[in-house]
Amino acid sequence: YYHENTVIYLNGEWVKAKDAKVDLFSQTLHYGYGVFEGLRSYATPDGPHIFKAGKHFERLLESSKKLRLNIPYSVAQLVELSYRLLKKNNLNDTYIRPLVYGGQNMALHPSRQVNFMMAAWEWEKYHRNSQLDVEISDYRRPNPLSCHIDSKLVGQYTSAILASAAARAKGFDEALLLDADGYIAQAPGANFFYEKNEVLYTPPEGNILPGITRAIIIDYALELGYKVEEKLFKPADLHQADAAFFTGTATEVSGIRSIDGKRFKLEWEDTIGYSLFLMYRQRVMNKEIQNFNLV
Ligand code: PMP
Repeated sequence: YYHENTVIYLNGEWVKAKDAKVDLFSQTLHYGYGVFEGLRSYATPDGPHIFKAGKHFERLLESSKKLRLNIPYSVAQLVELSYRLLKKNNLNDTYIRPLVYGGQNMALHPSRQVNFMMAAWEWEKYHRNSQLDVEISDYRRPNPLSCHIDSKLVGQYTSAILASAAARAKGFDEALLLDADGYIAQAPGANFFYEKNEVLYTPPEGNILPGITRAIIIDYALELGYKVEEKLFKPADLHQADAAFFTGTATEVSGIRSIDGKRFKLEWEDTIGYSLFLMYRQRVMNKEIQNFNLV
């Protein structure tokens, strides 16, 4: 993620990643109490562009507020810092990681000191395969009444890592998690859609992280004239599906080949998901949409 000269932003300063230190008594390290974001920049002829930067930093500030870990930056300042970070490191195609984490505090109330760091690294493909074999996980999404599961809170990713690890140990590419009530929710770090008779279905907000890519893909599908239904559904409903895919900043739009060993009818290239993937890729390179003022 970094080399000898990589620079990160840490609490108002630019420091070498290799010299940056974290307090071992940080509350986030012990209790998972923190928030983060994940953004992507793409190389364009006009230099790197960060896709939907404004929306991501808005979500970071909202998540921070929910945890009472406020940071003294506006969305515009954070967008500017993220571009400076890329420039300082001479990076183009990247994943950008802002993290808000607590200071020294072993008590169970929010740390008074709040730290903010942001780093970026050259992007590698998130999934090894372009069409994924997926298993429905025995691990479920956390109960929305126990935490803010619609925010990117550090500790919630324990469940995500457990589900991924279990799926990979059995030879699957990715896990698909049910919500606390047994409805299909999402992947550990991506949202889920399935297609049936040219209609797209995706779980509604409530038990999912409402992804920024999910919202964009719904807009694109409507623009192409497809119907999109946000509704709850169970694993058995997928038996009749024609195709399915995941959406997310890292994942972009990734086709799913099979769920629990059952292959979908359509080849990836013949799906609505694939048209949306092509549209997403095209627009990601389009300055009009890249412009961070258009949040
Ligand atoms: N769900 C979770 C739990 C995630 O971490 C992510 C990645 N941020 C997503 C869904 C996809 O969201 P987005 O499209 O905003 O990246």
